[in-house]
Amino acid sequence: MTTSKPNTPAPPTLMWFRQDLRLADNPALSAAASGPVIPVYILDETPGIRPPGGASLWWLDKSLRALAADLEARGSRLILRRGEAARVLEALVEETGAGAVCWNRLYDGAVIERDKALKSRLTDAGISCRSFNAALLNEPWTIANGSGDPYRVYTPYWRTARERIGAVSPDPAPEGLTAPKTWPDSDDLDSWGLHPTSPDWSDGFGDWAPGEAGAREALEAFLDDAIKSYSDDRDRPDRDGTSRLSPHLHFGEIGPRQVWRAAQDAAARGASERQVDKFLSELGWREFHHHLLFYNPDLATKNFRPEWDAFEWRDDEAAFTAWTRGRTGYPIVDAGMRELWATGFMHNRVRMIAASFLIKDLMIDWRRGEAWFWDTLVDADLAQNAANWQWVAGSGADAAPYFRIFNPVTQGQKFDPDGEYIRRWVPELRNLPTKVIHLPHSDVSELLAAEDHPSGPRYPDPIVDHGKARDRALEAYSALRATRQGETPK
Ligand SMILES: Cc1cc2nc3c(=O)[nH]c(=O)nc-3n(C[C@H](O)[C@H](O)[C@H](O)COP(=O)(O)OP(=O)(O)OC[C@H]3O[C@@H](n4cnc5c(N)ncnc54)[C@H](O)[C@@H]3O)c2cc1C
Repeated sequence: MTTSKPNTPAPPTLMWFRQDLRLADNPALSAAASGPVIPVYILDETPGIRPPGGASLWWLDKSLRALAADLEARGSRLILRRGEAARVLEALVEETGAGAVCWNRLYDGAVIERDKALKSRLTDAGISCRSFNAALLNEPWTIANGSGDPYRVYTPYWRTARERIGAVSPDPAPEGLTAPKTWPDSDDLDSWGLHPTSPDWSDGFGDWAPGEAGAREALEAFLDDAIKSYSDDRDRPDRDGTSRLSPHLHFGEIGPRQVWRAAQDAAARGASERQVDKFLSELGWREFHHHLLFYNPDLATKNFRPEWDAFEWRDDEAAFTAWTRGRTGYPIVDAGMRELWATGFMHNRVRMIAASFLIKDLMIDWRRGEAWFWDTLVDADLAQNAANWQWVAGSGADAAPYFRIFNPVTQGQKFDPDGEYIRRWVPELRNLPTKVIHLPHSDVSELLAAEDHPSGPRYPDPIVDHGKARDRALEAYSALRATRQGETPK
């Protein structure tokens, strides 16, 4: 005997979009799409879960619009709600009579706790709850070293992780989506105020195309061209040598399986194995950092190496402000910080130089830099931002040793040899000859005096002398080591 009437419509499934704002290669959506589906995005306000920064909210606004349009083209909609995500979702299950909920997993500790508790409550209430992997090539717990422990070093991690990837065949987007019998109400996206208004500082963000189509275009453009010289050009901020996929990957507008597969196929478009491998190994860093965050949920707030807890950081508000504004007097640092402010992005090499300058030349706690990047980067990502800041600081797993201190002048000369990147972002220095453009102000004051910017702001003097700052940082570092070894610092 069957209990259901033959014509009773199947209850809808809620598809809870999070950092997977795409239709293709989205396993939770594919699972939900076997019957009527209600796509939902919740602007989460759960205490303890880090809210996105300003630049991320700008991106989210555009990405949600793109997702809603893509869903509408398939006969569906995007329902928007805000509040504590678990409560909002449970209320929505009740309101819509949904029989199931699907989502793709995330790997930040606070989110995992929320999701686990929600899953167990929904399951107890008889709602089928299914979660999937859309964000990684290998989920963190699937990779372990010979002793069964998590990896702390990238190279052996990637050797193991890469082996496990095997053949990758991303799913296409569902062709059509079945609408529920009735749609629940949705917030109006404009009412969320994600786009900045007072003031609207996003003028320079216009080159970005948030959304699944924009992500695919960025990937195609990269594979058509820059991948062919990726390992040679990726460190050159004056060239378009990298994919600029990071915000698309963060918001899940494209998944790593799609990127992986397309990059492997790039050999057919003329890219050498060396170039493709280098690119894939960067995806490996992304995976490694998720692995680290999964096993170290406090990565954004606590030193991975606890010995760093005793390090004496300096409080220097004036220096911190100069750094954030791109007015340190070191052209490559200032160009990077201004690029960040104007576009929500900074080239990776320059991120390393700017971060090193804050941590080592200014001796300001890496967490302050991490927080600034969190607010200003369109690709701000808990795992990537925290792990990279700790890598530069020397407090992280597999980190650059603290005593390796970048010289901002020689770094600039090496990676922006013609000064083009400086000229793009530091107009006060635009007319300087290349041979002096990377030198701090005091070294070129006569040249600057003859500059043609009489009314513009004067380029600042260096806020520290790099040589002296380097010595100060090294002394503080040896004091830390001496304290650890129970010796008196020399
Ligand atoms: C201090 C600091 C903070 C950073 N914060 C972030 C952040 O919040 N979010 C973020 O996505 N990246 C961060 N990065 C890493 C890196 O700078 C960016 O991922 C990269 O610049 C993105 O540009 P792209 O997409 O053109 O990279 P490509 O060179 O084209 O690389 C392809 C992809 O590989 C991954 N990747 C590349 N470099 C790294 C790296 N060093 N670590 C981890 N993954 C990498 C990214 O997903 C990237 O999109 C940070 C780096 C530093 C030094």
